[in-house]
Amino acid sequence: MPFKSSQPDIDLPTNITTWTWLFSSPASPLSKNPDSEIAGFRNALTEQRISYSEVKRHTTHLSTALVKHHGLVKGDVVALFSPNTPWYPVAMLAVNRVAGIVSGASPAYNVEEMTYALKTAGAKYLFTVPGSMQVAAAAAKEAGIGKEKVFLLEGKMEGFMGMGELLEQGRKEREQVVEYKLKEGERNADLCGFLSFSSGTTGLPNAVMISHANVIAQCLQIALITPPTHKKILAVLPAFHITGLVHALHLPILLNAEVYMLSSFTMPSMLSTISKYKISELLLVPPILIRMVRDEVVKEYDLSCVERFSSGAAPLSEEIIRALERRFPGTGFKQGYGMTESCSCITAHPPEMYGFEHAHKVGAICASTEVKIVDEEGRELGINEPGELLARGPQITMGYLGNEEATRNTFDEEGYLHTGDQAMVGEDGMVTITDRIKEMIKVKGIGVAPAELEDLLLGHSKVEDVAVLGIEDEYSGERPKAFVVLKGNLERGEEAGREILKYVKERKVRHKWIKEVEFIDVIPKSASGKILRRVLRDKAKAGERGV
Ligand code: AMP
Repeated sequence: MPFKSSQPDIDLPTNITTWTWLFSSPASPLSKNPDSEIAGFRNALTEQRISYSEVKRHTTHLSTALVKHHGLVKGDVVALFSPNTPWYPVAMLAVNRVAGIVSGASPAYNVEEMTYALKTAGAKYLFTVPGSMQVAAAAAKEAGIGKEKVFLLEGKMEGFMGMGELLEQGRKEREQVVEYKLKEGERNADLCGFLSFSSGTTGLPNAVMISHANVIAQCLQIALITPPTHKKILAVLPAFHITGLVHALHLPILLNAEVYMLSSFTMPSMLSTISKYKISELLLVPPILIRMVRDEVVKEYDLSCVERFSSGAAPLSEEIIRALERRFPGTGFKQGYGMTESCSCITAHPPEMYGFEHAHKVGAICASTEVKIVDEEGRELGINEPGELLARGPQITMGYLGNEEATRNTFDEEGYLHTGDQAMVGEDGMVTITDRIKEMIKVKGIGVAPAELEDLLLGHSKVEDVAVLGIEDEYSGERPKAFVVLKGNLERGEEAGREILKYVKERKVRHKWIKEVEFIDVIPKSASGKILRRVLRDKAKAGERGV
């Protein structure tokens, strides 16, 4: 029997888009509050603020411009390539308003990575910011996106249309394009709203299809366990990652909570934002929580407003949890656990579990969600028995874009998603993650696919064979390590190691950089040719350090 949520089921609307739900349904804060009390997105550094009423207006004008002047039609993919800014959700919601699909990409990507993201998503339009234009324009060209379809979210640049001009174009139209309305029998669970990249349990990153229903379901699941006092949300997590996308760009609108966005992260900018705006709950990832307990600069700020820490996206060690409790006595703690394919949370702490004594658990099963824990033969396990966690619920992805095989392999015959995480469910219904079975490496909370780095390194003229896996890193949680077999009799020394590190550095975004190289004679493989990662993992754990 699967484990079920003990929370009441959510009442999921099945026939509206996220835009309609957030801005013109009975659930919308705009239907319940006077305009003066509507919260908004705020750039914490520049103070620029867009209230949710303005977001509604802007998204109407922007979607009108995109449809009437730039030819956007239902199902067109629009890539957003930018750090967090209040204009990001405006573009995102405008695209979704008219049934376009939004695909986020890390603003740190280089041209090659961005080109791959654009091509895999099949993007036809691109929004970016001046600082990212060089990469954006080159990648757009490679992916066949014309210059006239590359827009600026903010700022101005010769030769590119900016947000101001687009809004003006839409505003001038006598008739605004009406929001997309689902047809009779069409369900929002089948309407893709987002493409988010993840390597799932194996292989190269795929574009995960997130439906409008997935996002609405996740917002309702989290709102159900969010105290009504939670009215200020710190957005340090990037919008291109599923947790930032849902928890910082959608959920706050439903909650009518103010979002404080940090376009570029530094500890002082984050700490001064928390202190200045008296933000009481901090949604962070383990690498930042580690800095909260270790960095001296934290002591320079009045953080007495902080009532609770919230962590997710990667494991947090017991040591850091205890250090956090010591440094911030009297605060509470919660976690969320899930993956891109589950539109963020499968589990999350409900308020009655906010105490530090439950901090090592990743929460209770979200409303309307079922969880199975299975052994290697797929047999269901019981309470306190660790095995792979599988989940089924309204927040679980529609599948991978254009990759039916990967989709098929990710779900079992009962429609449960394989997470590739080992976990157990306790008597109190709380879930504990005990290990990660899948290949994915988590660097600062961001997933890195070993297959992507292995593919790259196999292209190096001196590399015969290679396997990449994650090893512990004090600040990033994990970093990739490469086990390399060199061709012929090539020398294995430090120089060869450095050459490999440099090769990756020149081609990949920083969080994918290799931390360590170890030369070995042969990559251990199964009879079917699969890399035996566990053997290498044990080897790495045994402390055999390389270059
Ligand atoms: P992503 O798709 O990038 O969000 O990565 C999802 C993976 O991150 C999960 O399958 C887990 O391996 C890991 N993860 C997410 N949240 C947690 C958590 N609270 N504790 C431990 N691991 C987590």
